[in-house]
Amino acid sequence: MTDTAHSAAHTAAVFRQEYGAAPAGVWAAPGRVNLIGEHTDYNAGFVMPLALPHTTLAAAAPRTDGLLRLTSDGALGGTVELRLDDLRRTPDAGWAAYPAGVAWALREAGHRIGGADLYFTSTVPLGAGLSSSAALEVATALALDDLHGLGLPRPELALLAQRAENAFVGVPCGIMDQTAAACCTAGHALFLDTRDLTHRHVPFDSAAAGLRLLVVDTRVRHQLGDGAYAERRAGCERGARALGVRALRDVPVALLPEALAKLADDPVVRDLVRHVVTENDRVEQAVAHLDAGRPRAIGPVLTAGHTSLRDDFKVSCPELDLAVEVADAAGALGARMTGGGFGGSALVLVEEAAAEPVTEALRSAFATAGHTPPRIFPAVPGAGARRLTP
Ligand code: ADP
Ligand code: MG
Repeated sequence: MTDTAHSAAHTAAVFRQEYGAAPAGVWAAPGRVNLIGEHTDYNAGFVMPLALPHTTLAAAAPRTDGLLRLTSDGALGGTVELRLDDLRRTPDAGWAAYPAGVAWALREAGHRIGGADLYFTSTVPLGAGLSSSAALEVATALALDDLHGLGLPRPELALLAQRAENAFVGVPCGIMDQTAAACCTAGHALFLDTRDLTHRHVPFDSAAAGLRLLVVDTRVRHQLGDGAYAERRAGCERGARALGVRALRDVPVALLPEALAKLADDPVVRDLVRHVVTENDRVEQAVAHLDAGRPRAIGPVLTAGHTSLRDDFKVSCPELDLAVEVADAAGALGARMTGGGFGGSALVLVEEAAAEPVTEALRSAFATAGHTPPRIFPAVPGAGARRLTP
């Protein structure tokens, strides 16, 4: 029995305890890490996430009385009970706003869904920048879609999940996380164009290539984060206006020197623009390497991405910088912060044989610096959302 099958059986058993009857099925949606393409999504650019083996499972059964009942092993308190007919955004709804928002978004889009009982378990670390929120939303979306026979395409489920997070939960996230959770396939990274939402599966079977991907969850989250995100976003929009383009995506890397010269009297915006334009180019470089069967060659691209996020976009922090420096010094092929920044996780690409020594070097450097011990785990590009049982 695989881990996932085991936890599907367990999730179904707990559902039965909670609700007194077996679920109609168990659905899974993964967390994700972004391999490359950071702070490009709100600039209409490229991203390339991959799905983690860590998943959120939703056991679910339909109801005929228009009630939505929600329970999670990751939440404090008991079952949340809501009426589908009066779902509305409330500022302090807590975790239940994510799945409730998905039901709301489905109905807003005109899909006919009835009530449901849902129970969630998750192995995606919460709040670590690995997108437990999108995993929760997409698991809910797929479960409700399946329970009510809607048959919506995956990218559509991702859009509805994003709508739930934007308009119901109130978090202004892009489309990457939900698309990764809904659309990824095992052994591949997902090359996504956030302008037109076209995507392509790019081969990245890291294990078969003798490589390890390590996720280093620093377990810190600096307060700075939210305001800094809004500032960076506004700065990028200012840059696009100054350059006369719809979005920074429209500045080709070959024209970067000219663009930077035009921004000479606004050094803050100039640096933001340099990051976004070079980062889009790095995504394309990484895609080219993976398509050509050269996974090791993305190492330096990842590290260059970190330098750009640290020096130009200024969203790193001491813990993330330490993780990247130490990993590189200990023989990693490349490393970078992943996610929005100011904490969260770093991603390290290493030869299999170097995974142990690099992990040890990271642990010992964090201890010496007096930082919280990081959580370090291997990732392999996993599958997107799916039905597990029956
Ligand atoms: P991230 O998506 O990076 O993990 P977020 O702050 O976007 O961080 O989302 C974390 C929030 O999502 C949690 O605080 C909780 O409200 C909700 N959440 C995610 N997964 C679960 C779960 N399995 N059970 C209950 N709530 C969850
Ligand atoms: Mg999130």
